[in-house]
Amino acid sequence: MSLTQTIELPNGVKYEQPLGLFINNEWVAATEGATFEVINPATEKVICSVQEAREVDVDIAVKAARAAFEGPWASTPPSARGKYLLKLADLMEENLLLLASVESLDNGKSISLAKGDVAMAAGCLRYYGGWADKVHGKVIDTMPGTLNYTKNEPIGVCGQIIPWNFPLLMWSWKVGPALATGNTVVLKTAEQTPLSALVCANLVKEAGFPAGVLNIISGLGKVAGAAISSHMDIDKVAFTGSTVVGRTIMKAAAESNLKKVTLELGGKSPNIVFKDADLDKAVEWANMGIFFNHGQTCCAGSRIYVQEEVYDTFVEKFKARIAKNKLGDPFAEDTFQGPQVSALQFQRVMGYIEAGKSEGATVLTGGKRFGETGYFIEPTIFADVKMDMKIMQEEIFGPVASIAKFKTIDEIVAVGNGTPYGLAAAVHTKDIKTAMEVTNRLKAGTCWVNMYNMLSTQLPFGGFKESGIGRELGKAALANYTQVKTVQFNLGGMDFLVGL
Ligand code: NAD
Repeated sequence: MSLTQTIELPNGVKYEQPLGLFINNEWVAATEGATFEVINPATEKVICSVQEAREVDVDIAVKAARAAFEGPWASTPPSARGKYLLKLADLMEENLLLLASVESLDNGKSISLAKGDVAMAAGCLRYYGGWADKVHGKVIDTMPGTLNYTKNEPIGVCGQIIPWNFPLLMWSWKVGPALATGNTVVLKTAEQTPLSALVCANLVKEAGFPAGVLNIISGLGKVAGAAISSHMDIDKVAFTGSTVVGRTIMKAAAESNLKKVTLELGGKSPNIVFKDADLDKAVEWANMGIFFNHGQTCCAGSRIYVQEEVYDTFVEKFKARIAKNKLGDPFAEDTFQGPQVSALQFQRVMGYIEAGKSEGATVLTGGKRFGETGYFIEPTIFADVKMDMKIMQEEIFGPVASIAKFKTIDEIVAVGNGTPYGLAAAVHTKDIKTAMEVTNRLKAGTCWVNMYNMLSTQLPFGGFKESGIGRELGKAALANYTQVKTVQFNLGGMDFLVGL
């Protein structure tokens, strides 16, 4: 059985796609011989079949990660860990077109967007490579005649479970801080999009990481994902995906070995436009906020609130702007929106559109499938949406915006905070006092002013309320992967207690 397949892409890129499990720097077949098909969401055709990790394979990968953690990785100086990450970042940039093309094929995102994802993923690894030798403890004075210090030690073997919306970028957000701080990793990709991480695994080996430091497996959530979250020898699990699955993972962690848990979950983020905002710019940011990545963004600005004096003007401008978004072939350089990732996601999103219609919201534009092949959905705007409608409360994760009016700051703060989520929010205004008051009062992990969906590797990202636990990116993410050890020396200062 071959563990690679030659694939030729519509843009002329031809490459060998690895299909196996990447464990101990080797390609291996799944122990039970299972495979699953990977579908091209633009054509609905099978691209290839990859090896499917089951519980036994998770266990093999954990053993490899444990041996590396106790062995070669423990004796690798922090600066050398950083060098490996920097080398991997360089290799990703050298292979940018290949990686972006694989991402477009597998996920359906436009090639221009995919190129940006790969560049950001490489940037993220480089950022954490820089941190590797800068994670220090502290000396803390208490009594004369004592020496006390803290050390930030790695947690151990980390299980990482990532989603399909930004396969390589989420991979880098997880792998970067974990490896920089001296942990080893067993990472499971999403079953919809396993391919780019497998291509990257070859680069991991080329970058020179010792065997077992980073193991990458393809598998199903309820099987391999569940095996990771309940594994007794995984010290920490990091997850990005739905809030429902986040709860399951936390429960499994609690019921197994109380492994540490960080979660980056869903959102239903408010994008608030005040009457004094530059409306043309607010329209651009609203478009970017909800339709970027086909609406498959955890921080998508899916609830758009416009102050009543400018509501009609905003809605007309927004509708005209959306008409310019180009849908279609992910490999066309000018495509803005490709297909949704899978048949299931397509059906879920279409189900929400039907719910919006039947609950009485007005379809301003879109609301239908686009074309006849592929999981394409027209960018859809619902106007006059009531707060209690399903489309205003639940995460749709597709190209569907809900718009409503508001009158006052107090009203919009209450409405903005009126879902269980708290991932992101945005305010558009020229008044700094309005911007500061509203961002201070919104319960969201990221608040943007006069922009949307702008993330930076250097800035922490994560959720309030049911949108998550812990922060990714920035220095903050290092805390997810280190634990503090306190060491206390008695240099005579505590001897007065002896014999008391
Ligand atoms: P999901 O949460 O089911 O899947 C995300 C990851 O979790 C995948 O790797 C999957 O294999 C794994 N997983 C699934 N069930 C698991 C389990 N029981 N134990 C351990 N791991 C498990 O997401 P989905 O079903 O693919 O998408 C559904 C919804 O999730 C979307 O509509 C969206 O709301 C949300 N979502 C959010 C993000 C985000 O970035 N926050 C990303 C993807 C999906």
